[in-house]
Amino acid sequence: MSSSPKEPLITLSAGPVAAFPRVLRAMSAPVHYDYDPFFQNFYEAVTIKCAKALRTKAPTLVLHMEPAPGIEAAAASLISPDDVVLNLASGVYGKGFGYWAARYNKELVEIEVPYNESIDPASVAEAFRKRPDIKVVSLVHHDTPSGTINPAKEIGKIVRDNGAFLIVDAVSSFGGMDIHPDECFADIFITGPGKCLGGAPGLTLMAVTERAWAHIEANPKAPFASVLSLKDWKKAWSKDEPFPFTPSVSEMNGLDAVMDQYLEEGPQKVWHRHALTAKACRAGIKAMGLELWATTEAIASPTCTAVKVPAGVGDADIIAAARERFGVVFSTGRNDTKGKLIRIGHMGPVAEPIYATVAVTAFGGALRKLGRKVDVAAGVEAALAVIEADRG
Ligand SMILES: *Cc1c(COP(=O)(O)O)cnc(C)c1O
Repeated sequence: MSSSPKEPLITLSAGPVAAFPRVLRAMSAPVHYDYDPFFQNFYEAVTIKCAKALRTKAPTLVLHMEPAPGIEAAAASLISPDDVVLNLASGVYGKGFGYWAARYNKELVEIEVPYNESIDPASVAEAFRKRPDIKVVSLVHHDTPSGTINPAKEIGKIVRDNGAFLIVDAVSSFGGMDIHPDECFADIFITGPGKCLGGAPGLTLMAVTERAWAHIEANPKAPFASVLSLKDWKKAWSKDEPFPFTPSVSEMNGLDAVMDQYLEEGPQKVWHRHALTAKACRAGIKAMGLELWATTEAIASPTCTAVKVPAGVGDADIIAAARERFGVVFSTGRNDTKGKLIRIGHMGPVAEPIYATVAVTAFGGALRKLGRKVDVAAGVEAALAVIEADRG
């Protein structure tokens, strides 16, 4: 073991992910004074470009911190001391939101399912029947440490029909699959540039509905002059309004390029290469005799493949072997899924089918290095067969 690890060759993590070269170039552009009209104009244009990608009317709310604190800010701003919150937990991020919600709400009601399953919309409808006073519902669309997708559109419809507010964490799904704020009835839809969009991880993007803004304005505890405040930034998109504090200028330069990349390539194409890469990867993993973490392939994420750690080997050993022998980086699980699964990310520039064969080779090759008999060729063939069958 050398004391300073070698720089990896190929990062197939579940985020942060490798950024597109054009994003990196954009981030090296000049750092302008935030109150110079050039930057104010640029800032407004970028928030409008984000809204185009998110398919919302209002310019996107940008918070100058990564999405985890951004999500906490959404909880702090929206949830008032009178609100009953229904937290939907199918994984580590879903569970985690409940801890934030509990800090601000009147009462927390939770639906928790095993972390290799997804939330059944019928259970949400049932929760409203039992507790018609539920005011805010929170959902993680893709709970990344499990690599599983929740049916956000179906759940969103139920929440809206019951007059409650919905917070959707789409940090690791937006830009990698067909999910947008309006169609899942999200009142606060949260994403960021550092996962499927192939940017850097330092910003939060939010779409907030008018009814959510009204609820925030009416919340006596909604933070202001605070890092957790959404209110402070509500009007900051406009070139005629001040910033509450200095925005991250270089990150905004990168965000502009992220959105150009996504919109110029075309969302349908982007979603397709994510889905195809994941499908090829799953086929290859299964053909090597390994098991997927998700109980059904229908809920397996198109942006991240979670593989069960085979009995008798450690996740850390597999990850270290893939890294040392091939320079390929995978992600471990997190908290409750740590040790149980390994995650192969298909996000941003590596959501390209060829990387499915790279992942399968590195995963299988790592197991071989650890003394396992693994048919890597069968895995690569299976992945390739999915790619060759694609007519998209
Ligand atoms: C990455 C991610 C976040 C944000 O986490 P950061 O630590 O801010 O990068 C939030 N939710 C989900 C589901 C994520 O995958």
